Amino acid sequence: MCEILTLIKDLGCVSCLLMKCPKCGHLYSKVTDTRITADATSIRRRRVCLKCDHRFFTNEISCVEYPIVIKRDNRKEEFDGEKIRAGLMKAFKKRSGIKEKVNDIVSGVLAEIISKYPEKVPSEKIGDMIMDRLRNSEPVAYLRFASVYKNFETAKDFALEFEQLLLDLPK
Ligand SMILES: [Zn+2]
Repeated sequence: MCEILTLIKDLGCVSCLLMKCPKCGHLYSKVTDTRITADATSIRRRRVCLKCDHRFFTNEISCVEYPIVIKRDNRKEEFDGEKIRAGLMKAFKKRSGIKEKVNDIVSGVLAEIISKYPEKVPSEKIGDMIMDRLRNSEPVAYLRFASVYKNFETAKDFALEFEQLLLDLPK
């Protein structure tokens, strides 16, 4: 315990030391190395247990607080980025090599949500953001997404959207 108190005095930080050893369960470990990723979104700390000398590491990643989603019927729902991803994967019909494209769209949408709607976001706005990103570059995925999202009920709804899309596509 003396060692810990000395360390706390040296580092001036209890939370840096407080991390349970996965091997012996001791509550305190010392940070021996700290690495920050190039994009500064995560920090990896190498640690050594102050009791058994076991070496392990911890990852610290930035977490974002997302707004509450307001559904069309005014119900509130917890934000779930996975839903955006799942909707897109469906729209692309799990086309091979599409993961990166989907990741790009998801991160763009997430960034837009955080900057424009810090507290509440209407679910239709999320849908619009996704469709905006699909419309010109991925017309087929756009139509699939829109048909679910806009709840097309008839072939006519689909045809109308298709027609509009054709008119808007770059020649
Ligand atoms: Zn230990």
